[in-house]
Amino acid sequence: MTGPKVVVIGAGVVGAAVADELALRGWDDITVVDQGPLPATGGSSSHAPGLVFQTNANRTMTRLAQYTIDKLGRLDCFLPVGSLEVATSAARLAELHRRHGWLAAWGGRGSVLDPDECVRLHPLLDRGGVLGGLHVPADGLARAVRAVQVQLDRAAGRGARLLERHEVLDIRTSGGRVAGVVTDRGELPADIVVCAAGIWGPRIARMVGLRLPLTPLAHQLAWTGPVPALHGLTAEATHPILRHQDADLYVRDRGDRLGVGYYGHRPLPISADDIVPVSQAEIMPSMLPFTADDFEPAWTATRELLPAAREAKIDDAFNGLFSFTTDNLPLLGESPDVAGFWVAEAVWVTHSAGVGRAVAEWIVDGVSTFDLSGCDLNRFEAHQLAPDYVLARDCQNYVEVYDIIHPLQPMEAPRPLRTTPFYPRQQELDAAFLEYAGWERPQWYGANAPLVAGRRLPEPDGWAARFWSPIVGAEAQATREAVALYDMSTLKRAEVAGPGAADFLHWISTGDIHKSVGSVTYCLLLNADGGIRSDVTIARLGEERFQVGLNGQRDVDWLRRHAPAGVAITDLTAGTCCIGLWGPRARDVLQPLTDADLSNTGLRYFRAVRTYVGMVPVTALRLSYVGELGWELYTTADLGLKLWDTLWAAGREHGLLAAGRGAFTSLRLEKGYRSFGTDMTHEHDPFEAGLDFAVKLGKGDFFGRDGLLRRPHDRRLACLTLDGVVLGAEPVYSGDTAVGYVTSAAYGYTVGTGIAYAWLPAELAEPGRTVHIGYFDRRIPATVAAEPLFDPAMTRLKG
Ligand SMILES: Cc1cc2nc3c(=O)[nH]c(=O)nc-3n(C[C@H](O)[C@H](O)[C@H](O)COP(=O)(O)OP(=O)(O)OC[C@H]3O[C@@H](n4cnc5c(N)ncnc54)[C@H](O)[C@@H]3O)c2cc1C
Repeated sequence: MTGPKVVVIGAGVVGAAVADELALRGWDDITVVDQGPLPATGGSSSHAPGLVFQTNANRTMTRLAQYTIDKLGRLDCFLPVGSLEVATSAARLAELHRRHGWLAAWGGRGSVLDPDECVRLHPLLDRGGVLGGLHVPADGLARAVRAVQVQLDRAAGRGARLLERHEVLDIRTSGGRVAGVVTDRGELPADIVVCAAGIWGPRIARMVGLRLPLTPLAHQLAWTGPVPALHGLTAEATHPILRHQDADLYVRDRGDRLGVGYYGHRPLPISADDIVPVSQAEIMPSMLPFTADDFEPAWTATRELLPAAREAKIDDAFNGLFSFTTDNLPLLGESPDVAGFWVAEAVWVTHSAGVGRAVAEWIVDGVSTFDLSGCDLNRFEAHQLAPDYVLARDCQNYVEVYDIIHPLQPMEAPRPLRTTPFYPRQQELDAAFLEYAGWERPQWYGANAPLVAGRRLPEPDGWAARFWSPIVGAEAQATREAVALYDMSTLKRAEVAGPGAADFLHWISTGDIHKSVGSVTYCLLLNADGGIRSDVTIARLGEERFQVGLNGQRDVDWLRRHAPAGVAITDLTAGTCCIGLWGPRARDVLQPLTDADLSNTGLRYFRAVRTYVGMVPVTALRLSYVGELGWELYTTADLGLKLWDTLWAAGREHGLLAAGRGAFTSLRLEKGYRSFGTDMTHEHDPFEAGLDFAVKLGKGDFFGRDGLLRRPHDRRLACLTLDGVVLGAEPVYSGDTAVGYVTSAAYGYTVGTGIAYAWLPAELAEPGRTVHIGYFDRRIPATVAAEPLFDPAMTRLKG
């Protein structure tokens, strides 16, 4: 036998794909176990209509779908009938252009059609009601049950064992690792367990003490009887799959019948514990009785969109169960507490083969070729695992699944959820709050409205004008003119401390950490293949004590997984807070409040000091994400308000204001500072991202170094300037070819131009080159610029 003993729980389309992909990588001690009969086990895959739309705001989700289409196509489990998403409102038509932009940005092909072209493609459509449609020829229908069978057969052909009608009752662990899977027909020894149990996932995960944040929700699917207009059609499918998001429904054909799926009904959640056992299910455990009243609006809308359906009746309908999560993304990865317990959950058929490959790569190689940061099981903040939160968000995501959502649009409820100590002052200053990871975060302050007068602040239009105010521009300019307070508390930070902490951080990051106490180092965490895992700021506060600025819970998990015994990783975020005090007058405000020497010789750029601001003990880090003189001032949460008030009282005579995230983003982009997750991800390496300075190749071995040295560096993160403002995630064209995509975008209120960072082929990323950004139905010319646009000599920061 090759490889460890693996037990995959669940032989749905996900478990089958994981088993196949593990076997493809040479592991042959694999057992797939399912409580139901194979291949139609009674899970969600057994009745899924199999529509595959690859277009997604999330690049990874599109890439996972593209792999699924490709693989299932090769295995004769896919019908490439194409897809058509139709618009019946002007807002939806604009949205389809935006979706087309994502598709092009992520390397897919499609086009927005006029109503005549839509009807030519799908003759059942009512020409009068349709304003246009997004056509994606490569989309189509996955034969889900066949995909289960074929992938299981392939795995079995490479030695895997398939055990149907085996119910998993428990998971045995030993010494913090999985050791075996207990079924109703005996125990299976295991070094690795993959939970691919779909809607039953929370039950399986609980067997190892893991709380899986997903909710099974019922989703309505109805099959019609024969539609006279389709008479004589016998093929598995003839027309492109349809989506009519304005009415929350989708349609496929099968022979002379139609299948209609509906998301417009009230959320119908169910606990994983309440799913009926296989033996008691009327048809299948994942099929609940149809609630006809809920479907009524869908049937009306279907007959309006497809008048031919008026001649048909609903023949067979049910409420089918599948999983929803709090951010609509899958749950992939290894348990933080029980080694060898892996999860591949909340995955649609659309992404199933891609997820199979991604998870197999991760298990076998320690890293996937896909950027899985957004899907990581360990991405959640503590409150995001609370049952009430999970239920509320999952139900809301069901409701919003086809809604048009602006990238800045915050969740409506539950809010406010997390507030920083400065919240009362921010309210007094009439903050316009958006939300980030549950935090209330000011985008701008209404109290700064008087600053707008007399300034040149160009107004964006359309989507860029939403969640925007001219105050954003005024706050950005005022920061560069005087000084501003920025609430930076929402950024993750942890203490890394204990014997060996310095060696550990030196090894896990790309930076040189063996510097004196008081040093601050900006560097990266890499994956094993040299892709960027995160960017971090490491402040050495003691010989073996560090404060590390991180990007989220995944980073805490990563450090904990790799820290040697004796090095403790403590999340400081909730118990502390941070103010960025930045601007040319920052020293005038701060120096009188402290006995620390804040001069250029007393505290140099990228140095830290423990001191007091008035009565408040702070850790002051001399750095700035807006490119101005200043400090990040950290203190404990209890003293946060006192810190704000102390700075406020001292600062008013120097023109101090509070400024929001809108200004921050504008200033950050003028300075060319990258944001992990948006500007760079696991797909990119530091050299491509322009972060060579953060990688100390000469320091000896570090995590990801070998992988980094093996990578080609054929892309660049480039700074584009343009007339106007875009949102981010748009395609970038050279001629008619999409060659890259926008990451962050904003208007630069100091430099007086629109700014967009974008990934481009290296040969196009030369200053002076002209490209075009696809923005809705327009192409906006943009020019590659030398960066940073503002203060390249760093005189402001070091002043
Ligand atoms: C009505 C409906 C329409 C849908 N339409 C689409 C669509 O058009 N396109 C799309 O992409 N997705 C669609 N989906 C979603 C899709 O069907 C699911 O996301 C997908 O099938 C989940 O696959 P899975 O392998 O994770 O889960 P499942 O197929 O449910 O497999 C999980 C398996 O785990 C087994 N299991 C659970 N507990 C145990 C245990 N204790 N012991 C042993 N075995 C166990 C179950 O028997 C089951 O076979 C639809 C879902 C529904 C309900």
